[in-house]
Amino acid sequence: MKRVILLRFGELYLKGKNRGYFEKVLMSNIKTSLMQFKCKFYKVTGRYIVSDYDEMDESLIIEKLQKVFGLVSLSVATEIETDIDEIKNIIKSLKFDCKFFRVSVNRADKTFPIKSNAFEKELGGLILNNNSNLKVNLKNFDKEITVDIRENGLTYILTDKIECEGGMPLKTAGKGLLLLSGGIDSPVAGYMMSKRGMAIEAIHFHSFPYTSELAKQKVIKLAKIMTNYCGNIKLYMCPFTKIQEEIHKHCAPEFMITIMRRIMMKIAAKVANQSNCKAIITGENLGQVASQTVESITVTNFSQTNVPIFRPLIAFDKKDIINISRKIGTYETSILPYEDCCTVFLPKNPVIKPTIKKAENEESKINAEELINLALQNIQIIEL
Ligand code: ATP
Ligand code: MG
Repeated sequence: MKRVILLRFGELYLKGKNRGYFEKVLMSNIKTSLMQFKCKFYKVTGRYIVSDYDEMDESLIIEKLQKVFGLVSLSVATEIETDIDEIKNIIKSLKFDCKFFRVSVNRADKTFPIKSNAFEKELGGLILNNNSNLKVNLKNFDKEITVDIRENGLTYILTDKIECEGGMPLKTAGKGLLLLSGGIDSPVAGYMMSKRGMAIEAIHFHSFPYTSELAKQKVIKLAKIMTNYCGNIKLYMCPFTKIQEEIHKHCAPEFMITIMRRIMMKIAAKVANQSNCKAIITGENLGQVASQTVESITVTNFSQTNVPIFRPLIAFDKKDIINISRKIGTYETSILPYEDCCTVFLPKNPVIKPTIKKAENEESKINAEELINLALQNIQIIEL
């Protein structure tokens, strides 16, 4: 008899033609997430199993697996060699303090002598003997006791299901370049895209010395926390000071943010092209601030047309974004009060409904191309 962890994959993509590919990537992601532990991970008769781990590590292993995109749930199970009396003994020893339960027997091993229904009733009876508080309810149950009798002579008995992240396996949807500020939204945006299978690289624009070394460290820390879900992240630290100073000097103040965003996009598109990122990701959210009206977003969009921009949070309420941010562990770091480059030279009245024509006209007052090339040459790369 031993304790093992049974894993369940998402149903949807397992049915498609790409099943083999998705499964292979997911298995490799699971292996990576378990690298620090001494344990075995394998697939046998259609079940994915983690076994032979130190029981002291069990909760840590579960915590890791819960963050692997593509896993929908897992259960700690007791594995035994299939034997009627042994199964009954284990079932007899179970005690629950809930109200309704059911027993489900899965008899994959057709040589097992008792039919599923009959065995379910028998095992249910044993549980009732030992739990006078319980009642059987096949539809509305608090506890489902599953007895999974496999073809290979092993049986798994389990009583609880632990939810995992779901989503699609990381690295099955190409790579995206996340515009990572120090705020609450952009880390959540990156997490959301990774949950759809997209690997992440990130770019941060800093205005040192207007923004501090601490502000930079905060962004590195955010990216580091994100790696819990998003895998390794290559972080591009892009100097933005000179660009901001030039915009401040030459362009109409109400267009400051608009032009900054457009230049950020142009730089991001170049980095994305060079690093094989298929999309740019931002934490923008409709209506949240002046730079996030539909007109502002449109003007930002048309600054470059090489790389599509994904905005997974566009229709989210702030409270929902905050909830996710707390869950993934970035919130406490995001709210640290260090200045962002967007708060430097902030105009009193930013334009709320810019037009492309006016924005292009303002932008033409600086030598954008030269400034962009200079910034690109001075990017610092941090591997997390
Ligand atoms: P966040 O909480 O992510 O900072 P926000 O609500 O503060 O978002 P803005 O500051 O307008 O909104 O930024 C919108 C998006 O632009 C951010 O989510 C991020 O993707 C990108 N962005 C803003 N500032 C930077 C920066 N300094 N470096 C990289 N990306 C940035
Ligand atoms: Mg911000």
